[in-house]
Amino acid sequence: MTKTVFTNAKLADGLLHDITVEQGQITSIEPAGSETASVSIVEIAGDMLVPGFVEGHIHLDTSFYGDTWMPHRPCTNGFDVHERVVFQAENMAAAAPMDKRARDQLDLCISNGTLHMRSHVMVDSSVGLKSLETILAVREDYKDIIDIQLVAFPQSGILKSPGTPELLDEAIKLGADLVGGLDPASFDRDVNAHLDVVFGIAEKHGVDVDIHLHDAGSMGAFTIEEICARTVALGMQNHVAISHAYGLGDLLPDTARKIAATIAKSGVSIMTNAPGNHTFPPISLLRREGVTVFSGSDNIRDSWWPYGDGDMLRRAEIIGYRSGFYTDEDLQAAFDIVTSEGAKALQLHDYGIQVGAKADFVTFSATCIPEAVVSFPKNRKVFKGGKMVAEGNKKIR
Ligand SMILES: [Zn+2]
Repeated sequence: MTKTVFTNAKLADGLLHDITVEQGQITSIEPAGSETASVSIVEIAGDMLVPGFVEGHIHLDTSFYGDTWMPHRPCTNGFDVHERVVFQAENMAAAAPMDKRARDQLDLCISNGTLHMRSHVMVDSSVGLKSLETILAVREDYKDIIDIQLVAFPQSGILKSPGTPELLDEAIKLGADLVGGLDPASFDRDVNAHLDVVFGIAEKHGVDVDIHLHDAGSMGAFTIEEICARTVALGMQNHVAISHAYGLGDLLPDTARKIAATIAKSGVSIMTNAPGNHTFPPISLLRREGVTVFSGSDNIRDSWWPYGDGDMLRRAEIIGYRSGFYTDEDLQAAFDIVTSEGAKALQLHDYGIQVGAKADFVTFSATCIPEAVVSFPKNRKVFKGGKMVAEGNKKIR
């Protein structure tokens, strides 16, 4: 059996260890110097070794990363999801083939250390299942270097886009792993009817749910409570996520605390990318109440905003910066959000630097995790199943 030992790797405890990998799995973790008789040695030389990053929310189909620069078009009258969807359709018609753009974006993410991903893919009456078919083929090509979950995402609403309930159902049969939703109140203007479709498909196919919720204040909070109630009623605890949940950032602390307790009890996780110039969920408060908070790049160079670099370590820095995280404990929390908490939300059971887990890890030079969060060092090596897939910010496989 081929056995590779990664020697002198600094783990989160600050100590040097030798990590043995066999058949893509971690089979032992010993103090440095314990392993001497192995055939294959990879010298980590005191760099940190951490689990592969979890990109919990991205859009592989709509990014223009790698394409020509696409100047951002502002909404005519303040932010309007409907208008942005129209701009997106116009931009997509003029963009490079989706397959190329998706691969460019994946290469970017992998080169930065992302080895697990959840991507939403647009399913509506205009594109039908075409985008999903393209991204499913790309996923197949990348299956040895990154694990990808796909969400059937009703970007144009469910009730407002005729035929979408049937398309979402077909999308799951075709290979999407989760069913998505979009602002049941403000977009479709009928929370119950929207959630009937989403949870109906989830129940029918036994798949998880991840809903985009941009709605502010009490409308957002009301929708969150409805999602939590359905999650509990269907016994779907730990299988439902709400992406963005901006409304949580608008609430007074007491109200936020109460709803956080409901979210925690329902086992619903919250995804935030800590967006600029926008309210976003109070991460510390949510975590204190026991809510799983995870993160993602969301949009990278698309019709919604021009930002994003596919680096989840930098995303941890943005989360910390926007949340006022200064202590080591807080910076560690920001790191957990892009690693172990993401793994929890995505239900990755063989994750982490532990015996029995997949040998999916990233190395870089930093003295400790908090320092890595604020400096997001770029001299990384990325290993999938113990095999190097990227070095020096370039994908090599
Ligand atoms: Zn999104």
